Amino acid sequence: MVRVAIDVVGVVQGVGFRPFVHRAATRHGLSGWVRNRAGGLRVEVEGSAEAVDAFLEVLRHDPPPTACVRRIDVAAVPPGGDLGFHILASVADSPPRPVLPADLAVCAECIAETESPAARRYRYPFTNCTRCGPRYTIIESLPYDRPRTTMRGFPLCNACAAEYRDPADRRFHAQPIACPACGPTLRLLAPGGEEIGSGEGALAPAIAGLLAGRILALKGLGGFQLAVDATNAAAVRRLRARKGRAEKPFAVLFASVAAVRAACVLSPEEEQTLRSPAAPIVIVERTPAARRGAPGVDDAVAPRNPRLGVMLPVTPLHRLLASAVARPLVCTSGNLSDEPMCADEGAALVRLGAVADLFLVHDRPIVRPVDDSVVRVGATGPEVLRRARGFAPLSLTLAEEAPRVLALGAQQKSTVALALGREVVVSQHLGDLHSPDGALLLERTVADLVRFLGAQPERVACDLHPDYVSTRLAERLATTWGVPLERVQHHHAHAAACIAEHGLAGPVLALVWDGAGLGPDGTLWGGEALIVDGAAMRRVAHLRPFALPGGERAMREPRRSALGLLHAVFGADAAAHVDGIFRPAETRILLAMLERQLHAPRTTSMGRLFDAVAALAGLHAEASFEGQAAMALEFVAEAAEETAARYPLPLRPGEPAVADWEPLVRALLDDRARGVAASVMAARFHAALADLAVEIAGRTGLARVVLSGGCFQNVLLARTVCARLVARGFAVHTPQRYPPNDGGIALGQAMVAAWRARERNDVSRHSG
Ligand code: ZN
Ligand code: ZN
Ligand code: FE
Repeated sequence: MVRVAIDVVGVVQGVGFRPFVHRAATRHGLSGWVRNRAGGLRVEVEGSAEAVDAFLEVLRHDPPPTACVRRIDVAAVPPGGDLGFHILASVADSPPRPVLPADLAVCAECIAETESPAARRYRYPFTNCTRCGPRYTIIESLPYDRPRTTMRGFPLCNACAAEYRDPADRRFHAQPIACPACGPTLRLLAPGGEEIGSGEGALAPAIAGLLAGRILALKGLGGFQLAVDATNAAAVRRLRARKGRAEKPFAVLFASVAAVRAACVLSPEEEQTLRSPAAPIVIVERTPAARRGAPGVDDAVAPRNPRLGVMLPVTPLHRLLASAVARPLVCTSGNLSDEPMCADEGAALVRLGAVADLFLVHDRPIVRPVDDSVVRVGATGPEVLRRARGFAPLSLTLAEEAPRVLALGAQQKSTVALALGREVVVSQHLGDLHSPDGALLLERTVADLVRFLGAQPERVACDLHPDYVSTRLAERLATTWGVPLERVQHHHAHAAACIAEHGLAGPVLALVWDGAGLGPDGTLWGGEALIVDGAAMRRVAHLRPFALPGGERAMREPRRSALGLLHAVFGADAAAHVDGIFRPAETRILLAMLERQLHAPRTTSMGRLFDAVAALAGLHAEASFEGQAAMALEFVAEAAEETAARYPLPLRPGEPAVADWEPLVRALLDDRARGVAASVMAARFHAALADLAVEIAGRTGLARVVLSGGCFQNVLLARTVCARLVARGFAVHTPQRYPPNDGGIALGQAMVAAWRARERNDVSRHSG
C-alpha cells in the first residue's frame, strides 16, 4: 500500500476537475480525498503502487479540456486507511484567490491569420485569442473581463462578438480580442508628436526608417522598446550614445528561429524556451563565425561578448516589423539608463524624445509596464534572470500556510512580493530604484498587488540597508498600516528565495556569492557561506574582508577593489603594484583613504573580489556597468587553454571560517610578472573558487547546498561549482524560476518573515 499527496496547481477550479478526479480514483480502486485549495487543489490517494501510477498517468495526460494545469507535485505520505474516495469541502481558511493571468506571446494560429490575405485580420498588429495576447498589462481590476481592461474603449464589432460568444471558436471569451474594424490602431509619430501616418501608413515609413538606420521607439506589449538595425554599427552606436548605455549588451529580435540560427547556436531546450508563450530574451552562444566577426549582428550590440540575448516576435506587430526588415533588430527597453520603461505615448515622447527618431504607437493603454523576461538555459534547465512578461505575476505555491507578508525587495533589479495563504506572488521586474520614477513605480506596484489580492498585509519585510528606497517605503507602510516591520539580511533573503522555490525544509548550506548587501555587523557582505534553517541563519564562512576606497564608486571602478586588496597585503607599498591601473596622484589619494579608514567601507563581497582580479589581470580597470569586469573574466577563462593549476585560496578555520585571498593575490601578481595570459589567470581564479566551495561544503557536513547571489549569473562559475559539489555527493539547488540576482530578494524576505512568524507562534504555543 502506498499513499501520495498531490498538489495540482493552475486553473482547476470551476472546470469539473474534482468530479474527474473522483471518477479516476474510483476506477482505479483508490481511497482518499480531493479538495479545492488556494491556487489549485490537493488530492491524496492510497492503494497499490500500480494503481497510484495509473491514476497519476490519467491526471497528467487526460485532464478536463477547460482546465489549465500548471504543475502537479507529488509527495509520498504515510498511509491513512481511508474508506472510499471523497470530495471534501474547500479549506475554509484559504479561499480561492483571484488569479492574475500573465501576458502571452502571439500564437501560431494568430500569426497564420495575420499572414493570410483572405483573413479579416490580415496584417492586423493587435490580433490575439484565448491562447495569446495581453492580460496583466491591460487589467484595471478583477474579475478579468473586457469592461475592466483597457480594451473597454473598443466595443466589439459584430464579427468579433460572434467569435467571442461561440464555444467552438478559438476566441470564445477571449477578453482582449480585436480586429481592424473594432480594435486599436497603429500610428507613427515624429519626436515632436506630429502624426506621420496611421495603419499601414504608419508601418511602411517605420520599416523604411529602420532600414535607413533610424531609431524606432515602439509601443510593445508591456511598454516602449527601442529598436534599431543590429547590423548597422553607426546606428547601434548612436543608440548607445543617446541612451547613455556605453557597453552593456543589447538584446536582438529575430523574425524566426531560422534567422536566430544564422547568428547563434541553439540547443533544443533553448529553442523551446525561445518559442514558449513567455517569449523571453534567451541568452545563447553566438556561432564561432559570428564571434570571429562574420557579417550580421554588429559587435557594438554586445561588445566582446561570446553570447547574445535573442528573442522572437512577441506580438504580430513585432513579427510584421522583423519580417519586413529581414535583418536582426536591436530591441531594448524604452528607457534612459537605470530608469523604468515608458508605458504611454506622453511619457515616451518626453523622455525618449531625444533618443528615438520615430515613435510607433497605438491607442491601447498599458496599465503597468512589464519588460521582456530574460532566461538562460543552465545545467538544470531554464533559469530566469529577469522575471517579467510571461512569468509575473504567476504565484509560487508553498508547502505551508504563510501570514500576509508584503516584502519590498532590494535597491536594484527591484521586485515586490506578497505572501498570502499558501502562495507568494512576486511582481514583475521593476528595475532600479535610484530615479524618482523608479521609486514611484515601486509604490504603484505595491498598491496594485495589495488591491488585486484584496489582502491588507499583516507584516512588512525589507532589507537591513537603511538607505534603500524600498526600506524607507517599508518603514512608511508598516507605520501607516500599524503592522510589524521585519528586516531581513540580504544574503539570508537570497538563500531563502532558492529554498522556497525548491520547497526545501530543514538546514541547508547556502553559498551566497554576490555584489554587496549590508550585514548585521555594519560591513558589506557578499562572499558568504550561511547555514540557513528557516528563520535561523548562521554565518559559517566568508571571504577575508577588505576595504573599498570610495565605497559605492568601486562598483564602476574594479581597480578600486584591487587597490583595497593590495593595501591589505602590502600596506602603503601597494602603490608599487598598480602601475598602469592608476595615475600616481590617484593612488596617493586612495591609499590615504585606506590608511585613515575614511570612506573605505569593509567588505567580504565576492563580486568585488571578481572585480579586483579582473583589474589585476589587466582586463578592466574601469567598468561601464556593474558586473562587466566579472563577465570579462568569465569569458576569457572559458577560452583558456590550460585550467589544471589553480590559485591557493585557503579556508582558515574559525567561527566563522575565513577564505584568505592573500595567497591568491600573491600568486596572481607572480603570474602577471611572468607574463602569464589573462585567460589563464582567470581560469585559475575560477578553479580556486570551485575548490573553496567544495572545502566549505565538506566542513559543514550538510548534504544540501543552495547556490545564489549575483555572481552565480556567471555560467562558468555556476557550472563548475555545481559539478564539483555534485561529484562529491552533495545535492545542489540553484535558482530557476526566480533570479539569483536581487530580483529574488523580495521573495526571500517574504519567506524569512513568514518563517519568523511561524516560529514565534510555535514558541508561544509550546510555552502556553
Ligand atoms: Zn492567438
Ligand atoms: Zn472586430
Ligand atoms: Fe544581492
